[in-house]
Amino acid sequence: MNTAYKRIVVVGGGTAGWMTATALATAFPVSTVELVESEEIGIVGVGEASFPSIRAFHKILGIDEAQFLRATDGTFKLGIEFRDWREAGAKYFHTFGDFGGLSGPYALWGQHRRLGEAELGALDRQCLPSVMASQGRFMAPGPGDGRQFNYAYHFDAALYAAFLRTMALQRGVRRSEGRIVDAVRRADGGIAHLALADGRVVEGDLFADCSGFASLLLGRALEERYVDFSRWLPVDRAWACPSARNGAALTPSTRCTALEAGWAWRIPLSNRTGHGHVFASRYIDEERAREQLMQQLDGAALADARLLRFSAGHRERFWVHNVVALGLSSGFLEPLESTSIFLVQSGLGRLIELLLAGARPGQEAVAAYNAGMRRQFERIRDFIILHYCLTARRDSQLWRDMASMELPETLAFKIHAWRQAGALHQYDQEGFDATSWLAIHAGMGHWPERADPSLHEMPHEDALRALRMRRDSIAATVATMPSHQDYLHSVLAR
Ligand SMILES: Cc1cc2nc3c(=O)[nH]c(=O)nc-3n(C[C@H](O)[C@H](O)[C@H](O)COP(=O)(O)OP(=O)(O)OC[C@H]3O[C@@H](n4cnc5c(N)ncnc54)[C@H](O)[C@@H]3O)c2cc1C
Repeated sequence: MNTAYKRIVVVGGGTAGWMTATALATAFPVSTVELVESEEIGIVGVGEASFPSIRAFHKILGIDEAQFLRATDGTFKLGIEFRDWREAGAKYFHTFGDFGGLSGPYALWGQHRRLGEAELGALDRQCLPSVMASQGRFMAPGPGDGRQFNYAYHFDAALYAAFLRTMALQRGVRRSEGRIVDAVRRADGGIAHLALADGRVVEGDLFADCSGFASLLLGRALEERYVDFSRWLPVDRAWACPSARNGAALTPSTRCTALEAGWAWRIPLSNRTGHGHVFASRYIDEERAREQLMQQLDGAALADARLLRFSAGHRERFWVHNVVALGLSSGFLEPLESTSIFLVQSGLGRLIELLLAGARPGQEAVAAYNAGMRRQFERIRDFIILHYCLTARRDSQLWRDMASMELPETLAFKIHAWRQAGALHQYDQEGFDATSWLAIHAGMGHWPERADPSLHEMPHEDALRALRMRRDSIAATVATMPSHQDYLHSVLAR
């Protein structure tokens, strides 16, 4: 650990703040970690769907799965069901599982497509968690039992922050309640101390800016430029509203339904359903967007709908002087693929590694941190755009514009490589692997223009037999699994 960073101050007590405080207190027990938050300002409190990497984060921190699920009204998530994205009535799954081999002559998707046998059913039937999700079943994969897939969780974001707070305080983090009114700079440009509204001063050597959209330190005090992605990702508002579940099934997946000027999420928690409508204000007014959300609810609204405003993009640099921004203060991409908490985790992992190695601002390692985070935002941006730009919808201006937009060059190349040769090109710092890209291409009915000649190397009968066997074995495995609801109850009872 760089001895210059003995006093670490975390600004903000939302998900990002408490994740950061817990992780830093665990990694650096000899440093003091102080977190400053303001109950009066509160937290953003949305963010109920996660990405599988959260399980690795919990493992490192020693978080017990059942305890976490009980504390946060959590459920299991196998992936996302997309409705109406390609066209009205069409749906597909993006799950955290595979479709067999991805490349070469035996690429399973390629054989499936080449045969074109209706009897085989959709490609989804070759993917274990997609079949589980479609039947509402869940069972965690056991070590070495051949059921290979990953999973994540849905949870109440406010309860998650509270859960992490208890853990952080147990690990020695000091919490200070108060509203920050100023961040006073040092001669070298870094932050010397924070001034609170009641006159207190909080000094630190390293400041983790987890102040949410306010971006108090990196944005406001250091004035780091915001890189705007809104020309590709125009959604800039969300209405969020919890509802009663009203007997609706406890699905082990998030649902994202494309609407006239955006999309609606449905996230099943153990005691209610989280709903939201993410929309572009240049295509629809706020009131109409709220009405569209209300039509999506599972049951009676449990609170007034809440409006959130944002703009897709990120700060140009993430670590500047002695300030590192994590969470919404560093940037935001719409929550279509639940990547915000993942980005916090990714930043934290890199930061801890660099702090352990004694990195200092101005060094190449810190420049590489910034470049790595920037790339990761860009890769996820491209993946999200893919969901939109392949649409066949032309029924509203948003969809017409999304279908004809000029793509970032990085994404245009990937789409070209797929169309030309069925190649799932991957850059560095990808947030999503080739299987995920395949799931979106396949789900949107977007296939290579000409078949790779090597796909014909497998004799027709052999390919058919292999695909039937895989499909039937998946179906047989899923038939023995409990419903998501029953499995969750058994875990909560542990
Ligand atoms: C509509 C929407 C849906 C989302 N859905 C998902 C999802 O499904 N999955 C996912 O991973 N992410 C999602 N996110 C993102 C997710 O909510 C955030 O990444 C996550 O909650 C972290 O937020 P945060 O901690 O950065 O900010 P916040 O929760 O806003 O916390 C900011 C903290 O800073 C404090 N603060 C601010 N100003 C001051 C001040 N002056 N003085 C003192 N304290 C201050 C606040 O009090 C608060 O404690 C979503 C976001 C939005 C907007």
